Amino acid sequence: MIEREIVVIGAGPAGLSAALEAARSGASVLIIDENHRPGGQLFKQIHKFFGSHEHRAGVRGIDIGTQLIEDASHLDIEVWLDSEVCGIFHEREVWVVRSRELSVTVKAKSIIIATGAVENAVNFTGWTLPGVMGAGAAQTMINIHRVLPGKKVLMIGSGNVGVIVSYQLLQAGADVKAVVEAAGRLGGYGVHTAKVRRAGVPFYTRTTVLEARGNDHVSEAVIVSLDDAWKPIPGTEKVLDVDTICIAAGLTPLVELAFAAGCRKVYSPVLGGMVPWHDASMRTNVPSLYIAGDVSGVEEASTAMEEGRLAGLSAAYSLRYIEKDEYDSRFNDALRRIDSLRSGMFGEKRRIAKHAIINHI
Ligand SMILES: Cc1cc2nc3c(=O)[nH]c(=O)nc-3n(C[C@H](O)[C@H](O)[C@H](O)COP(=O)(O)OP(=O)(O)OC[C@H]3O[C@@H](n4cnc5c(N)ncnc54)[C@H](O)[C@@H]3O)c2cc1C
Repeated sequence: MIEREIVVIGAGPAGLSAALEAARSGASVLIIDENHRPGGQLFKQIHKFFGSHEHRAGVRGIDIGTQLIEDASHLDIEVWLDSEVCGIFHEREVWVVRSRELSVTVKAKSIIIATGAVENAVNFTGWTLPGVMGAGAAQTMINIHRVLPGKKVLMIGSGNVGVIVSYQLLQAGADVKAVVEAAGRLGGYGVHTAKVRRAGVPFYTRTTVLEARGNDHVSEAVIVSLDDAWKPIPGTEKVLDVDTICIAAGLTPLVELAFAAGCRKVYSPVLGGMVPWHDASMRTNVPSLYIAGDVSGVEEASTAMEEGRLAGLSAAYSLRYIEKDEYDSRFNDALRRIDSLRSGMFGEKRRIAKHAIINHI
């Protein structure tokens, strides 16, 4: 077994920000990610971010990722890539499998879990056919691997992920045949939705996918209107000529490591389901464990970065790297920035949900 001071699991925006904040405070940090490169979701995001100037609105996700990695390279942060964390034992022992063959246990003083979230599936007849995939998978194919998942696409879900990936599929040369949305209104930010509409893509609300048809691959999709009880209305079926069905039906926090390590569960539908209880400093009920980013409730990269800063700072403070005055001042700055992110039509609901978790007895 080897020993390290602070171990951060996940090198997305939350994990990188946590590592930076802890290292800037003087702590020694090891950050671990299962991917070949750090950045989490950011490197798929070729679009300009929304939010305020303070939160890098107007900057592309890939550029935010590059900047975070550049910042980390100036600090003495140890990075293990291609390394999967498979368990946390006895509150401080992190079991890692490196390059799929070498098993290592790292004993840490503090652990920050920043594992992100996973896409939700929707099951319908034919949903296991090749050609049915998560919208995030399609985004990885076009923006990272430069491969079109298909030429004729049906998008399920009109939230930000659904509309942004639809637009990026159009940019990559695919024909998006329709976006369907089970709710009565569209879910994404107007600016992204408008771009897809302007490209001539039809949006159908109160509509879902009934069936994917095809022998060894999707060749058609059947969509259907829904009544007030969300039941399909017979006779409203439409057949679409598509070879790809992308599902953008929300995300669920990747909480397995946290729960297996003993973190208390709290249910929050607004934040994506079961999430680990944590206090305002992102510390869980297991004193050596902190969480940050989508694993603590699905929000956005900007909030993930601020939560990462809170977690990194708090872990460093608990190890006595900074004085109380400095901690309070940096902590309050991050809290103020998070508060401003959790405002407006989308943010307010998340602010209330986060508050409920922190105050959950
Ligand atoms: C299409 C799309 C558009 C978006 N647009 C915006 C936007 O404009 N603005 C915005 O603010 N946000 C946006 N977001 C949201 C943003 O990408 C996420 O909220 C953010 O990436 C969450 O950061 P994170 O660090 O918590 O998780 P992630 O970025 O998911 O990073 C988690 C990392 O942990 C690693 N990991 C997980 N489990 C393990 C394990 N067991 N061992 C080792 N490593 C592990 C993963 O491989 C990953 O690298 C968008 C998301 C999508 C999908």
